[in-house]
Amino acid sequence: MGKAKTFAAKLARETSTEGKVICPVCNTERKKLKMIINKKKSGDSWSPKYEYIRVCKCNETDLLAGKKF
Ligand SMILES: [Zn+2]
Repeated sequence: MGKAKTFAAKLARETSTEGKVICPVCNTERKKLKMIINKKKSGDSWSPKYEYIRVCKCNETDLLAGKKF
């Protein structure tokens, strides 16, 4: 039973990590997060822009704190 359980766990792990990006620094999944970024053009108007960014433990603290990076 032990071996079967281990195999299933291994299989589940491999399946769950498929298509995900793991950060080599903190070894956690880098999740996609949609952010609205205001880019100011030289002069007058602001143009809100949606951007997908990768969030892992390396930068999630800064993001939650509202810092720009
Ligand atoms: Zn990281």
